[in-house]
Amino acid sequence: MRIVRFSAPIDLGVGTDPLFGVLNEQDSILVLRGDPIYAGIVPQDKTLKLSDVKLLAPVIPRSKVVCIGKNYADHAAEMDSQVPSEPIIFIKPNTSVIGPNETIIWPKMSERVDHEAELAIVIGRICKEVPAAKANDVIYGYTLANDVTARDLQKVDGQWSRAKGFDTFCPLGPWIETEFIPKDQKITATLNGQVKQSSVLSEMIFKIPQIIEFVTNVMTLLPGDVILTGTPAGIGPMPAGASITVAIDGLGTLTNKVSSRVQ
Ligand code: ZN
Repeated sequence: MRIVRFSAPIDLGVGTDPLFGVLNEQDSILVLRGDPIYAGIVPQDKTLKLSDVKLLAPVIPRSKVVCIGKNYADHAAEMDSQVPSEPIIFIKPNTSVIGPNETIIWPKMSERVDHEAELAIVIGRICKEVPAAKANDVIYGYTLANDVTARDLQKVDGQWSRAKGFDTFCPLGPWIETEFIPKDQKITATLNGQVKQSSVLSEMIFKIPQIIEFVTNVMTLLPGDVILTGTPAGIGPMPAGASITVAIDGLGTLTNKVSSRVQ
């Protein structure tokens, strides 16, 4: 099942076409009422063309986006870092979340805004101290993310709240896929048509079950919380006006534009 949120006004839907995955304009969505994560959903007797709605971020976390740093060995190397012995976690505020095709705003404070293609986990229930073997019980589904980073500020600050916390710095979407099983699927970031990041999910140092166990041993996760699982090598700056697409085989694509730098 692929669940989208869209504005027509704000509504919920699920893909009805098995090819729904490339944002084909002919694809249709079945309208739902309710809330898939917090309250359950009721299908309505109505379908809409994808081309007639504006997709939103499929989830706005009520509490937090937890991120895993340096979770691919090649990315740790390009940052001149050791592979961490346990997951490095940080938080992006829920106010940084935007949806597909929305604009990443290049803040005045930064001279370099980078892309980071990532797989995102959507949490389905309140949970704490979840053993790795039970991790799947608390996962609602998966989506794509771009962990947008003001790389210059990340370096000078020594911690990452500012560099990764600006409004619009967490594109999510285009949908929550509830059937996706992360294995060795390809993950890419393509900037203005050029592939910049390319790896496979199996290159993650800490796998999804370990991540869930580790994070929930630190903090309680709530339904709708999102975990970004780290980015592979190839990060780099996005120029003004750039189009950036994160793609994961079997999951979909997430494209956003970058604004010119705010003056
Ligand atoms: Zn990241």
